[in-house]
Amino acid sequence: MKPSFFDLTHDELKALLTEKGMSGFGAAQIFDWVYKKWNFNPEEWTNVSNKTKELLLNEYDFSLLKVVWHGLSKDGTRKFLVKMNDGQTVETVAIPARDRLTLCVSSQVGCAVGCTFCHTATQGLKRHLKASEVVLQYITVQKWLMDNVHVEEKLTNIVYMGQGEPLHNFNNMKKATEIFLTQKGLGLGQRRITLSTSGLVPAIEKMAVDFPPVNIALSLHSARNDVRTELMPINKVYDLERLFKAIKQIPLKAHRRITYEYLLIEGMNDGPEDVEALANLLNSKESKINLIPFNEFPGSKYKRPTEQKVMWFLDQMIKRGYTCTIRTTKGSDILAACGQLKSEYDKLNLWEKDGPAVIPSIASTVLQNQVR
Ligand code: SAH
Ligand code: SF4
Repeated sequence: MKPSFFDLTHDELKALLTEKGMSGFGAAQIFDWVYKKWNFNPEEWTNVSNKTKELLLNEYDFSLLKVVWHGLSKDGTRKFLVKMNDGQTVETVAIPARDRLTLCVSSQVGCAVGCTFCHTATQGLKRHLKASEVVLQYITVQKWLMDNVHVEEKLTNIVYMGQGEPLHNFNNMKKATEIFLTQKGLGLGQRRITLSTSGLVPAIEKMAVDFPPVNIALSLHSARNDVRTELMPINKVYDLERLFKAIKQIPLKAHRRITYEYLLIEGMNDGPEDVEALANLLNSKESKINLIPFNEFPGSKYKRPTEQKVMWFLDQMIKRGYTCTIRTTKGSDILAACGQLKSEYDKLNLWEKDGPAVIPSIASTVLQNQVR
């Protein structure tokens, strides 16, 4: 199997061309064809030398990911299940909101962190995604939208909030981020990318000095060590004290404010003592809090609090001077809890029968489940 072209950063492509005795300037033209003109067939690149085209065609794979299932929610959210060369699949979700269309990409097949509220955790970690497989989620979905949706739908933002822990797959996510950002390619702005992490402290420390300055979201979920450990076993190893020591090293000027994601689970982290602990931990000037009412899924042991309880929590934080928002539920009619679509699809073992034929009927049996 040839390596994917989409694993190459602009500088790597330039170095490759120079090494083979070709002009390094060709790299900019090639990136222009691929990432600006959306042409993935080197044979059609008119201003690139035949020798360069031959090299690329012989040594690199230009194929996109295969969309094995897609669904459109009433609220406009589109969920895709994409298949990679080894047959593994991940979910990627396009979420519209006001003037943006955000793609929520996966970073791993499954996840090793094992949070007790997360559906992806039940799948364990199968493997890291390559940088190309992350970049290709964006390219594949954008190309799909261009080919299948008449009104122009352009992806504007990316969040690393799909399946997997992005900082566990540090090098590949760093490389994918570089490819997303380069002006020679997609040219996405730093503010348009948000990485969400469960709090892998050594990787956060490394990120502070060795990662492009994208927005950061931290999955906090509780400001009390005992509760957080129950929800996120990673807190046993990297507790709140160690976590916040690492977070303080991140240069805030570049990253602006950090967003703290706070899952609200009935009777677990939604009481007055939780509000107090959160207010003691976070500085209201430097933090943004995003409340996420828990999305239940079949077999989940937790419950979503009532709407009044969610509003009460929000109110408490706003009263204390925090910027605090609620993440609205998206795509509730298309198998939405993260990782759930993949699980349902795996169960039926439909890999060879590509196409949307069977999944929607499964979706209808789990209508109550919500995307985060
Ligand atoms: N692994 C990273 C990014 C992927 S998860 C992380 O944990 O941050 C993205 C977000 O979805 C996290 O904040 C996670 O806590 C949240 N999430 C996971 N399962 C959820 C569920 N059942 N309901 C609501 N949010 C959930
Ligand atoms: Fe992994 Fe994030 Fe799910 Fe935790 S919430 S198991 S870190 S994907």
